[in-house]
Amino acid sequence: MEYRYGTAVSPGIAIGPALVLDTEGVRIPHKTVPPEQADAEVERLREALDDAAAEAREKRQRYTARFEAAIGNIFAAQQSAFEDPSFRARLEQLIRDETYSAEYAVSRGIREQVKKLEEAQKKVGDLAAAEVLRRRAGDLIDLERQILSTLLGRQPTPVGPVGGERVVILANDLMPSDTADFSPRTVWAFATESGGPTSHTAILAGALEIPAVVGVGRFLTDVSGVIVDGDEGKIILDPDEATVHKYEAKRLAGLSRADRYESLRGKPAVTHDGVAIKLLGNIELAPEAAHCADRGAEGVGLYRTEFLYLNKSSDPTEAEHYDAYRAVIDTIGPNRPVVIRTLDLGADKFSSVSGLLSVEKNPFLGLRSVRLCLRKVDLFRTQLRAILRAAVHGDIRIMFPMISTVDELRKCKTLLNEVKEDLDESGTPYKPDIRVGTMIEVPSAAILADVIAREVDFFSVGTNDLIQYTLAADRNNEHVAHLYDPADPAVLRLIRTVVEAAGKAGIDVNVCGEMSGEPLYAPLLIGLGLRSLSATPRKIPEIKRVIRQLSVAEAEKVAGQALQMDTARQVQNLLRDQLRRILPEAVE
Ligand code: PEP
Ligand code: MG
Repeated sequence: MEYRYGTAVSPGIAIGPALVLDTEGVRIPHKTVPPEQADAEVERLREALDDAAAEAREKRQRYTARFEAAIGNIFAAQQSAFEDPSFRARLEQLIRDETYSAEYAVSRGIREQVKKLEEAQKKVGDLAAAEVLRRRAGDLIDLERQILSTLLGRQPTPVGPVGGERVVILANDLMPSDTADFSPRTVWAFATESGGPTSHTAILAGALEIPAVVGVGRFLTDVSGVIVDGDEGKIILDPDEATVHKYEAKRLAGLSRADRYESLRGKPAVTHDGVAIKLLGNIELAPEAAHCADRGAEGVGLYRTEFLYLNKSSDPTEAEHYDAYRAVIDTIGPNRPVVIRTLDLGADKFSSVSGLLSVEKNPFLGLRSVRLCLRKVDLFRTQLRAILRAAVHGDIRIMFPMISTVDELRKCKTLLNEVKEDLDESGTPYKPDIRVGTMIEVPSAAILADVIAREVDFFSVGTNDLIQYTLAADRNNEHVAHLYDPADPAVLRLIRTVVEAAGKAGIDVNVCGEMSGEPLYAPLLIGLGLRSLSATPRKIPEIKRVIRQLSVAEAEKVAGQALQMDTARQVQNLLRDQLRRILPEAVE
C-alpha cells in the first residue's frame, strides 16, 4: 500500500480496479490467463519480441544510412534489449508462474525495473548519474509501449475502459478530449501524474462529476487496485482491506452530506444578515445546463464555448453554435442569465484543432483566445452571429475572454457592431441590445479596470488565469503549484481593484474562476464586495451553505485582515480558521 499526494480537482471518493494508461493511451490489460494457456501466451510474447527486434534492426539500418551510426545505434540498443535472454526469461517466468497474460507480464516486468531505477535515482547524489538513470527508465517505458503495441496488433486503442467494468483510470496525463469521453458509469475516477487544478481536463472532471486528482508526480509503476480521494488530493495504491473499509465509510458519509446539501436547493443564497448572493453555474458543454438547474443555480455565469471544438476535425458552423446556445436556453429557461464567453482557444485548450493554432514557444502568452479571434475574423463573426441570433430566445449575454488592453476590447465591440449591421441588412432577427461584458483575467485589465468599466455592462473575474499571470506560475505545472495560490495578497489586491472599479461605474461584477467554487474563499470574496459567484454546478450547494452561515460584516472583517497580510500562507490560515468556525464539516 502506498500513499501519493497531488491536487484535488474533483471531489468524491472512488475505490476500484486500476486501468493504467501510458502516455500514448495504450491500454495495459490487467488480466491473467488459465494455466493451460501459458504456452500459447509465451509463444505470443516471443513473436512480439521477435517482431519488435526485427523492426528495431530495420530502423537501425535505415537511420544509420540516412544520418549516422550514432543515431542508428539508438535502435541497436533497443534491438539488443528485445533480444536479451534474461529479459525474455523474466517475462516468460511471469506468464508461467503468475499466469499473467503476455501484455500484463510485459507491463509488470518492465515497470518492476523502472521502479528499481527510480529508487536508485533518488539515492544517487550525482546529478549526471541521476539523469542517466532517469533516461534509462524512460527508454524502458518506450520499450514497453513498443512491445505492447506489437502484442495488441497496433490497433489504436480508445482511451477508456471496455466491457462494462467500472475502473479508476491512472495515466501520465489526459487530454480534455479523452476526459470528455469518460462516463461516470464506466470511470469511477482518475488520477494523473501531470496536470494542474485548472487544466481543462480537471475542469471537465468537475463537470462530469468524476472524482479526480492530478499532478501526483511519477506513480505509474505497478498498480492493480486504487483509491482516489478527490476531496483531499490523495491516491492510495494497492490499498489494504482496512483502508478500503475506512474509505468506503468516508464515501458513504460524503453521499449523505450531499443529500443534506440537496435540501438547500430551494432555499435562497442569502447571508445571515440578509444580503443576497447570486450563484451561477459554469458549463463547458450544453447538456450541463441541466446540472445548473438541478443544483439551484440562478443561471449560467460562464459558458466556455471552445468545448464546441472538442473531438471535431472542422470548425463548428453557425448552425452548430446556434443549436448549442438554444439548447442551453431551452434547459435553463428564457429568463435566467446565460453568459456566453466567445472562443478562448489556445494555450492548453485544444491546440490541434482545424490548423488554427501554430506551435507557440510560450503558449499562455501567445496567440490565444480573443487575440486569435481578432486574427481569424471570419471564425469570430460566425460565433457572434449565432450568439446574437440565439439571444432573441433568452437572457443571453456576451463575454470576451483574455482582454488585455482597451483597444482589444474596442476591436471586439466594433466587430460585434459590424455583425449586427449585417444581420440588420439581411433582416435576420437578433437581439440588438445584448449585454456585453469582459473577463478580467490578465493583470493589465485588472489594473485598468476603471477605464475598461466605462466600456462594458459587466465584469467577470477569471481567477484561474489572473492568478497564473499575476504570479507568473503556469496553472498546469505542478512544479510551480506552490506559487499558484488564490490567497496570495497580490491576487487579492487585484480583485479588490476590479470590484471597486465596477462599483464606481455601477456595473455588475462576478468571479468565475475555480476559486469561487471553493468554500474556503467564499467569505473572502463576499468580504471583498462580490455579490455574484459562478462555479462548477456541483459546488453550488456547498457554497450556498457557507453563505447562509455567514454575515457580510464578518466577511468584510476577514477580507480586511487578509488584505493586510504579507503572504498567501497567512491568508490561508486565516480563512481556514474562519471556515472552521462557521462550517466545521467543510474543513478537514
Ligand atoms: C479563468 O481564467 O478563471 C476562467 C474562468 O477561464 P478559463 O479557466 O476557461 O481559462
Ligand atoms: Mg481564463
